[in-house]
Amino acid sequence: MQEESFETLAVHAGEDREAHFGALSVPIYPASVFAFTDADEGIAIHNDEKPGYYYGRLGNPTQTALEKAMAGLEGGEAALALASGMAAISAAAFSLLKAGDHVVAPESMYSTTTNFLRYIGGQFGIETTFIDAENAEAYAAAIQPNTRMFWIESPSNPLVRITDIAEVSAIANVAGIATVVDNTFATPYNQRPLKLGADLVIHSATKYLGGHSDLTAGIIVGRSDLVEAARSGPAKYYGGNIAPQVAWLVLRGTKTLALRMERHNSNASALAHMLLDHPKIEAVHYPGLATHSNHEIAKRQMSGFGGMLGVDVGTADAAKTLVNRLKVCTFATSLGGVETLVQPVALMTHATLTPEEREKAGVSEGLLRISVGIEHIDDICRDIYDALG
Ligand SMILES: *Cc1c(COP(=O)(O)O)cnc(C)c1O
Repeated sequence: MQEESFETLAVHAGEDREAHFGALSVPIYPASVFAFTDADEGIAIHNDEKPGYYYGRLGNPTQTALEKAMAGLEGGEAALALASGMAAISAAAFSLLKAGDHVVAPESMYSTTTNFLRYIGGQFGIETTFIDAENAEAYAAAIQPNTRMFWIESPSNPLVRITDIAEVSAIANVAGIATVVDNTFATPYNQRPLKLGADLVIHSATKYLGGHSDLTAGIIVGRSDLVEAARSGPAKYYGGNIAPQVAWLVLRGTKTLALRMERHNSNASALAHMLLDHPKIEAVHYPGLATHSNHEIAKRQMSGFGGMLGVDVGTADAAKTLVNRLKVCTFATSLGGVETLVQPVALMTHATLTPEEREKAGVSEGLLRISVGIEHIDDICRDIYDALG
């Protein structure tokens, strides 16, 4: 059978019309309890010997539809939906790791993941070495006898740094280490890490998958033994399950993912090229630019370069002035929604890091993160131009 195109899969993945009276939209099952029909069947479902539903924390048909859709879009065997990106990250980490284990992770990435590994991981006896993830060899060099997990975030938040996923996964495979990729920035429309050799992909579905800045959710996708270990371990015991109403919203978002990402890609690329020559801009970080340090790797492993840019306007004051002048674009944290969002990174999301850690992560005082939305590109460009003064 011919492999379905991403666009078609995005519209139809996860469908089970027969089970839902032909409904085109999967129904929302708010039920927290499901009754059993007979003793043997009930006992089998409850004891995981037969598929079925019995308690809200452990899943429902709406959640299953989202999980099937995401497994399809990422090309994974199975998926697990959770209440937030951090619920997905912590469930993935705690299902793979135990006290005494070691992790290798980027020194520049989403700061809450950095702090999770450093402080929460640290509390449970898990040690992390933070490395320059643009250099695949840095992962190999950091391996210890107790290394169990390589963490990749590519493109990374906020500097859109690129890690060679195939290369790092190959190093991990030889050493028997699990590779987990945070694919939030790229989405499966632009990049499919499992096909490049990674074991698990995680998403903050709060961002592009939901796509409308109206929910928080997270997803783990990948090898079914690893996904089921996360489901029967951390997801079950720490909770963090996704609400059925939210699972439905994420699933609705994924149906238009291809259309939205196409526009995010083209708008971000246009804005990046325009800002490159602006006299008040010190640096533009975008994987689609030939000036990006790992542009060649990005070209190889991504089919589009995404909607996220880093822009350095020199000083914290210049960054504050710019966000105060925005009219079309919005000064807000988060990313991946239909609207263009601009945020001074060092003053906000990365303020929890020490100045030394920020410097190591490459987060300068004047760095702005721009999540380029799907408004008309001329309106976005004019607004940023006017705000630069
Ligand atoms: C937002 C984000 C997260 C965390 O997701 P939440 O849904 O906020 O918990 C993780 N990784 C990246 C790259 C993010 O941008």
